[in-house]
Amino acid sequence: MTNFPEERVKGSAKPPQPLWKGSPIGIYIHVPFCASKCGYCDFYSRVRQDQKAGYLKAIQQEIRSYAGRGIQADSVFFGGGTPSILTPNEIGEILGAIRESFALQPDSELTMEANPDTVDLEYLKAVYALGINRLSYGVQSAVERELSALGRKHTFPRAVQAVEEARKAGFLNLSLDLMLGIPYQTEGSLRETLGAILALRPEHLSCYLLKIELGTPFAKRHAEKDCPSDDEAADFYLLTCQTLREAGFGHYEISNFARPGYESRHNLKYWRDTPYLGFGPAAHSCFGGRRFYNPSDLALYIEKNGQIAETEEDGSCGGYTERLMLGLRLAEGVSLAEIASLDPTFTPEEQEAFRSRCTPYIKAGLMAETDGRIAITEKGMLVSNGLLAEIL
Ligand code: SF4
Repeated sequence: MTNFPEERVKGSAKPPQPLWKGSPIGIYIHVPFCASKCGYCDFYSRVRQDQKAGYLKAIQQEIRSYAGRGIQADSVFFGGGTPSILTPNEIGEILGAIRESFALQPDSELTMEANPDTVDLEYLKAVYALGINRLSYGVQSAVERELSALGRKHTFPRAVQAVEEARKAGFLNLSLDLMLGIPYQTEGSLRETLGAILALRPEHLSCYLLKIELGTPFAKRHAEKDCPSDDEAADFYLLTCQTLREAGFGHYEISNFARPGYESRHNLKYWRDTPYLGFGPAAHSCFGGRRFYNPSDLALYIEKNGQIAETEEDGSCGGYTERLMLGLRLAEGVSLAEIASLDPTFTPEEQEAFRSRCTPYIKAGLMAETDGRIAITEKGMLVSNGLLAEIL
C-alpha cells in the first residue's frame, strides 16, 4: 500500500510527488510504553509491554512506506511514553528503518527522551553508538517529596547519576525537564531544584507548568489542593525565567531555555511550522501541506501493521493563522512580512487588523515589536493562552 499524505488524506485526488524538493523534515517516533503511569500524565502510553514486538514491526512498516522518495530529514525525536524502555537493539531497528527510508543528513539532531531510572552507562553507550546525540531526561524536581507526589520512579540522586553516565557515554547535548506548580512545591523548594539542576550543567531545559488534565488520577483525587495557587505558580515561572537567564540560558520558547546554539532543532520545526512526520500510535504529522495523526490505539496500529487510517486535523500547515499562533510561542516572534510572503491570503488589510489587535498588549508590555517582528514578552508568556486567543 502506498502511503503518502496526498493519498492518505481522504478525498484527495492529488498524485504523489515523484521527488522531495523541500527542506529537511523532522521525524517523530512515538513509543507508547511506560514502566508505570504518573498520576498527572495524559500522554498515550501503556504499562503492558506484551505488544512491543507487534509495535516494532508495525512502526518499521509505517516508516518504510515513505521509502524511495529521497525525503531529507535532519532531526529525529524518540518521544513517548518512555523511549528508553526500548532496548538499544530495538532503537537501532527503528533508526535502521529511518535511514533506509529517508535521506538523514550527516549532522542530524537525534534526540531520545529517557527516564533516569530506565538507563545505565552500558545502555547509554549503546544508544550513543547508534547515533543518538541528544538526551532529554524527565527529571521534574530535585525534591523527593515532590517526585513521589508526581508518581515518578526515580530519586534525584539517581537522576544525577544518569546525567553523569550520559556524559561518560559521550553525550554533549543534554536536556532536562522540570515541572512547576506541582504538589508541595514552594519558592524554597523550587530554588533548591533550580540550584541542583544548574549544578548538572545541562545544555537545555524544558520547564512546564503542571496542568491537571481531566480523567487523570490527579484530577480524580483533586491534586490541586496540594499544589501552589495560580498566582504562586506564576511567580515560580518568573523566578525560573530569571534564574535561568542569569545562568546564561536563552529563553527561546514559552517553556524552553537553552545555552546559545543548543535550541532544540526538532521542536523548532513545530513552532516554525515546517514539515515533520510522526510515526506510531498517537503521532501527529504536518506534511504535504496537511495535518494528520494516527489514532491513539496501539492494538489497531499493530493489527493494521502501521497502515492505520489517519484522521485529518482541522486546518492545514502553513496557513498564516497557524504560523502566527506557533511563531508567537517563540521569543523571536513573527515577521508579518515574512508570513505574508509564504501565505498570500495574509493581505495587507489582515496584517493591519492583526497589528491593531496587538497594539494594546504592546502598550501593556505583554508584547513587543522590534525590527519588524512582533513577539510576546516574558511577562506576556505567563498569559500566552489567553493572549493568543484574543489576538487570533
Ligand atoms: S513517564 Fe512520562 S509518558 Fe510515562 S506516564 Fe510518566 S509522564 Fe507520562
